[in-house]
Amino acid sequence: MGRVFLIYLEGNLYSCKHCEAHLGLAKDIISKSFHCRHGKAYLFDKVVNVSVGEKEDRLMMTGMHTVVDIFCVGCGSLVGWKYEAAQDKNQKYKEGKFILERFKVLGPDGSEYVFSEDVHMAGSDAGDV
Ligand SMILES: [Zn+2]
Repeated sequence: MGRVFLIYLEGNLYSCKHCEAHLGLAKDIISKSFHCRHGKAYLFDKVVNVSVGEKEDRLMMTGMHTVVDIFCVGCGSLVGWKYEAAQDKNQKYKEGKFILERFKVLGPDGSEYVFSEDVHMAGSDAGDV
């Protein structure tokens, strides 16, 4: 395995809970009102240190979207997804934006999101502000 060069962020940031690679800044959060299979998810304007998977069409709570999964480059774990395209024009603001699953990342204070068994969302997505 080759050496991975990671980008380091400064400020209030979210990082991979497995390898602590920096992923995104709190100031780049667009919305915290998204949901995924594991509970809360945050919509970021940009993230770093991720690689993307294959494009796929996914039916989410707010309609059909073309998305790619995003993976931490430090350890390869799935951390969220990126919206490539949204069919519904009201969802276009998500295009090119990133979701980080709160359960998969450490918060600015090093906190870990506590998984709630009560959360049973139908799909993974949502996010109407
Ligand atoms: Zn990682």
